[in-house]
Amino acid sequence: MAKQTYEFQAETKQLLDLMIHSIYTNREIFLRELISNASDAIDKVHFESLTNKEILEGDDSYEIFLVPDANTKTLSISDNGIGMNREELIENIGTIAKSGTKAFLEKMLKAKEESDSVSGKELIGQFGVGFYSAFMVADKITIITRKAGEKQAWKWESAADGSYTIEEAEKEKRGTTISMTLLPEFCGDKDGVENFTDTYTLSHLVKKYSDYVRYPIKMNFETEEVPTDKDGKPIEGAEKVKKNEIRTLNSMQPLWTKNKSEIKPEEYNEFYQDLFHEYEAPMEILHNKVEGTIEYTSLLFFPAHAPFDLYHTNYEPGLQLYSRHVFIMDKCKDLLPEYLRFVKGLVDSPDFSLNISRELLQQSRELKTIGKKLESSILKTLERLMKNDREKYEKFWAEYGKSLKIGVYGSMYTGRETIDKLKNLLLFSTSDAQKGLSSLKEYIDRMPESQKKIYYASGKDRQSIDSLPQMEILREKGIEVLYLLDNVDEFAIEALHEYEGKQFHSISRGDLGLDDVESQQVKKETEDMSKKNETLLKDIKETLGDKVADVKLSNRLKNSAVCLVADEQGPSFAMEQVFAEANNPMFKAKRILEINPHHKLFERLQNIHLDGKDNAAFKDYCDLLYTQALLIEGMVPDNPAAMANKIAELMAQ
Ligand code: ADP
Repeated sequence: MAKQTYEFQAETKQLLDLMIHSIYTNREIFLRELISNASDAIDKVHFESLTNKEILEGDDSYEIFLVPDANTKTLSISDNGIGMNREELIENIGTIAKSGTKAFLEKMLKAKEESDSVSGKELIGQFGVGFYSAFMVADKITIITRKAGEKQAWKWESAADGSYTIEEAEKEKRGTTISMTLLPEFCGDKDGVENFTDTYTLSHLVKKYSDYVRYPIKMNFETEEVPTDKDGKPIEGAEKVKKNEIRTLNSMQPLWTKNKSEIKPEEYNEFYQDLFHEYEAPMEILHNKVEGTIEYTSLLFFPAHAPFDLYHTNYEPGLQLYSRHVFIMDKCKDLLPEYLRFVKGLVDSPDFSLNISRELLQQSRELKTIGKKLESSILKTLERLMKNDREKYEKFWAEYGKSLKIGVYGSMYTGRETIDKLKNLLLFSTSDAQKGLSSLKEYIDRMPESQKKIYYASGKDRQSIDSLPQMEILREKGIEVLYLLDNVDEFAIEALHEYEGKQFHSISRGDLGLDDVESQQVKKETEDMSKKNETLLKDIKETLGDKVADVKLSNRLKNSAVCLVADEQGPSFAMEQVFAEANNPMFKAKRILEINPHHKLFERLQNIHLDGKDNAAFKDYCDLLYTQALLIEGMVPDNPAAMANKIAELMAQ
């Protein structure tokens, strides 16, 4: 097949352009990115070889090789990994398919708008854009690659000018060689800029960023030595001879096999950063060795910050699996439940079979048992943190609380036991700002004896809940209310249903169920007034038509004239909005308009109603009452302009 030229996809072009012109710091990290791609490629061929030995073509000494050349100003990185065929070169290198890269691009464009230079470390660290980072240091890149098991090799080449070429090539060994023609400034031409053709610079970078990569990263070192005689003594006056020595640059040490007491915190941090391409030390480390009927070592980490795509469907959770320190598989999802998808780490167990496919692994009993144990050890750690180091737990909560809440909601599918595992780990803001975040236990411990339910309110922030009319009565009675500020909160509360025998109750739904003497009295009065005003309420409802499911007199309002509450059954307003955002607008809350019978406005309404329900003023009043109630809930009326006109008319009267 003849050489063909292809255009990069528009987004790829944009990304390349930004890489080349905007990132000025930490350009050295391209090396880590390419090494980690090489290591992933070896993982892949290794994993395939577990069930198909032939794929290795007899070569199972995995390695990554760096070849710097100061004369040609090139650096190449070779691996004997899985390699790529023609389609894969186009698919993987020529296009940006991943949402992560798109998000990276957006963030970078935004950062660029705000300032001219972008911190490469932060951005690439967060998104890991991999291969393209090589264009930060090179103006031409050539890839020669042959896919394991295929005969034909391919050459891919680009000078980052918007296009690339692909042509047939020869390659004896499977795998990939990436050769970069370095920009002159990275070849020792400029003071203070790293020289990527220098073996010592490269070995330092490998130690710094890739020390724990589990395949040897090798490089040839040229040294000069004075020849020695047969006794090993240097021969005086003899000319030095050049020697080549291939050295492995990384330690590859399986850190988890060492004793916990012998591992320094920095070692854990470096290991974690290397293995998972992270730029920050983890928030928490769990290192466990378990012996008994089932044997394993696990080393788990909570990343310091939740990745930006944790809740995207493309996010790939999972742990690495090893058997007797030999890597088997990356991102094994079957060990931990979905709500722990943020946990990174690895499990090494002699009980895992090396010859195992993903499908068989899923059914493995050992895997299930180990998974259960890991889950319980993580939960214990969280319980301990919550009890003994609240500050740290709250940091954890800020990053991953949402995951646990999604877990509670997910109990609808995973079963009630998930709730029992998680209910004591949940934290909420409450109406008592002084208290900070509270667990459900803390909340109910503070409840006065007379309070039978756990009250909650939803809103986008504290302020909007504080100003809800429904809060008035609870505030007056000194009842603390849980503040649900996150979209998922109310779904989690619905799934919980009750905590220690106490039911949850939204302040914006149905009867509040307050049963102190005063509340009972108010309730009775309201019922009496409702009877007296039966026709009025009926007429308001008729006037509003299907906008409301019912119109009632309220016993929860103190100063406000109206409020909107949702029916006991069906979604709440907050849930309705979540559904609408997810393009599911059919889940609508049933709206009940509640009117404060003690407000001056009610008297006015009664007077206007004396002229019958068909007079224009009564209709306007009904509409405006309803609109007010909507606005208080943060909802937009159907026809804001018409409403504004009505208000203007009334004001002019
Ligand atoms: P990422 O590694 O995050 O997927 P990259 O842009 O670094 O993103 O690489 C894109 C894809 O190109 C990889 O997912 C992989 O399929 C392929 N690739 C990159 N480098 C190699 C390599 N050395 N060997 C085989 N495939 C590779």
